[in-house]
Amino acid sequence: MSETTETIFSKIMRREIPAEIVYEDDLAIAFKDIHPQAPVHILVIPKEPIPQLASVESKDHALMGHLLLTVKRVAQQAGLNNGYRVVINTGSNGGQTVNHLHLHILGGRQMTWPPG
Ligand code: AMP
Repeated sequence: MSETTETIFSKIMRREIPAEIVYEDDLAIAFKDIHPQAPVHILVIPKEPIPQLASVESKDHALMGHLLLTVKRVAQQAGLNNGYRVVINTGSNGGQTVNHLHLHILGGRQMTWPPG
């Protein structure tokens, strides 16, 4: 996967293409997935265009913690009181299609295991 960091998610952050943004702060933004795989499907991304989990460095440790706390906050805000799944697809074998780190929040139905 290329390390280029300009993606459709950068355009969403800059409001150049529409998205249903549900949360934003200085470091992160969350918006509804355009092809939802569950009744609730939200993506949490860092504003910094880190390409994927495998690109994260030690200096990013506070940001990574912030992203997980943002997941918790956004899931609570979405009313996912019975649980939810958090997914980070990483690289081509991981099924990643957008080269900007993102955490999927999936909820509102019973999840199954193993994932595909
Ligand atoms: P992944 O396959 O893990 O890289 O996930 C990328 C996700 O981005 C997919 O679930 C797509 O449906 C979602 N996606 C792609 N384009 C958009 C968009 N314009 N707005 C919202 N979600 C998008």
